[in-house]
Amino acid sequence: MAQMKRREFIILNGIGAASAGLLSACGHPENKLIPALIPDDEYIPGIDYWKASACALCPAGCGIVVRTREQKANKIEGNPLHPVNRGALCARGQAGLQALYNPDRIRAPLKRTSSGFQQISWDEAIRALAEPISGTHPVVFISSDAEGVTGLVAERLASSRGWRLARDARPSEAPTAEDYSLSYGRATIPIFDIANATYLLSFGARFLETWHSPVMYSLAYGEFRRGANRARGRFVQIEPRMSLTAANADQWLPASVGSEGLIALAMAHVIAREKLPNSFREPLNQYAPEKIADRTDIPADVITRIAREFASSERPLAIIGGASALSRADNIAAVNYLNALAGNINKPGGVILSDGFDPFRSMRRGRPNWNELSAEVISGTSAVLIHRSNPAYYNPKIAEAIRSAPFIASFATFLDETAMLADLVLPDHSYLESWDLISAPSKGSTAIAIMRPVVQPEFDTRQAADVLIALARQLGDVASELESAEAIVKRAAAELRNAQGSIAATSDEEFWAAFLERGVVELDLTGPSRSDKTPKLTLQKESLRAASAYPLTLITYEHLALGFGELANLPWLQELPDPMTSVMWDSWIEINPKTASELGLSEGDLVEVQSELGTLRAPAVIYPAIRPDVIAMPCGQGHGAYGRYAAGRGANPLSLWPRPLAIGARVSKLGIKVKLARFGTNLPERLEVKR
Ligand code: SF4
Repeated sequence: MAQMKRREFIILNGIGAASAGLLSACGHPENKLIPALIPDDEYIPGIDYWKASACALCPAGCGIVVRTREQKANKIEGNPLHPVNRGALCARGQAGLQALYNPDRIRAPLKRTSSGFQQISWDEAIRALAEPISGTHPVVFISSDAEGVTGLVAERLASSRGWRLARDARPSEAPTAEDYSLSYGRATIPIFDIANATYLLSFGARFLETWHSPVMYSLAYGEFRRGANRARGRFVQIEPRMSLTAANADQWLPASVGSEGLIALAMAHVIAREKLPNSFREPLNQYAPEKIADRTDIPADVITRIAREFASSERPLAIIGGASALSRADNIAAVNYLNALAGNINKPGGVILSDGFDPFRSMRRGRPNWNELSAEVISGTSAVLIHRSNPAYYNPKIAEAIRSAPFIASFATFLDETAMLADLVLPDHSYLESWDLISAPSKGSTAIAIMRPVVQPEFDTRQAADVLIALARQLGDVASELESAEAIVKRAAAELRNAQGSIAATSDEEFWAAFLERGVVELDLTGPSRSDKTPKLTLQKESLRAASAYPLTLITYEHLALGFGELANLPWLQELPDPMTSVMWDSWIEINPKTASELGLSEGDLVEVQSELGTLRAPAVIYPAIRPDVIAMPCGQGHGAYGRYAAGRGANPLSLWPRPLAIGARVSKLGIKVKLARFGTNLPERLEVKR
């Protein structure tokens, strides 16, 4: 154990050294001098081994290559062969090493006893799992990863044992496939061909930060702006608070909260009036810019100008995202209607529709229904099994339903808020120790990346799929082809060989070797699985939010580094300064200087935000690039558990409303001054936040 600790120590401080020049919370330099004491026969000391795999830190599915030396991973880079991220990687992807070597990882199975959690062996753990679910008692399996190998095994168990399945749709600032179905007639997340667009109009879509696939869209944005052999693309961002994405725009239009759909329809009115036959104009008459300008706070002449720019551009494209935009589903339909008017569906620079590709499709036996996670799905079950999901952090109602179940088992990697409720914890591998296949659509193809162990497991953990297979055997439900996560991935890979992808091989073995080496196979889905039909668009009647008794509107948004709190346990991401405010390690509330002056607030004043759904406390940051009637707060902090770096820090808006949204609010000053950790200030190594 002492040796284990020492090896871990060397790696962690090696990582700290890499970022020492840039960041303020690195380790002590003397610790880097401790030599590697434990040689391993399976590697050549001093030689780097780069292994291809896939990033699992957000749904974008980027390809990665991991440098290992002396059987330890010490650097993650983007896989240049992966069409989604083409060698690039975001800060979250870089921080994946800290998910692997984090000192707060669960190191072995845990069973709850009267004196707290106690470590047990895997044999004991599988028996302890099988016992309460062996009969006909109802069981619910909750996961955010229905598409992966664990979801596949859970589906088999659900079919044979009558389990309920519940998909934990994590909060998102981007429309879901169902949201897009309102516009495109089927549930799909399109690819937006920003690289080839000539005019980009974004209604709150933070595509350079967190929207859909941020690395892919950041690269595409580079091409859009580069202007090689063509005019530089023009970019307009419409949103009430200037995000990092808006800060890159040619023009930022701070429209009133939730008015995105109105602006899109007013633009449609101008386009129809000037370019289209009468039948298009009639339904849009009520949205003339002059009629809606005062409700959007964007002058009629500005709306008319951007409508003309959009319509006259060679390849215009409109996209939508953000808390205020998503508060109303008809905003999404209205913005996508602009794309239909532009005729850019399935065209270069437009909206590319794809059906995606399920690499496990031949192993599914008629897919059981995955319910959306709710307290009702959990209610009445005798056992709750939870995989890659932490609803106790963001949904008190669901947490309550879980708590009332007689038996709770968690497959968590860290003791998060939901794992803390469990009777049994069966710790999953980190994604850098796991097998899976990750499907990610990109422009013109679908990429299937292989996720495989790049190092031996650091602790006594097991991949959740393998635990479920062991459970099935214990219960007498042996499905012969589901031997292990690795065997499932190998079998699916053999089928990929026949899918006419980017790897040509004459045998399964040859394909497997090439797949492991390249990390990705690209499938051309331009055949029958891609729609080239004109989408059926539904244009909904707009309706403004009812006037609120609260004078301000609070917008919550996804933290660039911490996401919706799932990455708050990684210290590199905690210490990454927010690009707009430079705040680290904390929550904050952005307030316009005019509003702050009216409320008698200055920088660092602790404020209480009251809304119909509850109250929050956080320090004020005076932020000029936000409308005076709006305040904004990032999600991601406010954990009550989840390890030393996450717990007890900041506030969690998701505990009041389990998704990013815009809500009426008022602010009061509490008379307490807080010193915010900001980049460039003199800080202790790790800031403790207690208030
Ligand atoms: S966008 Fe970043 S976090 Fe998401 S998969 Fe790609 S590298 Fe990983």
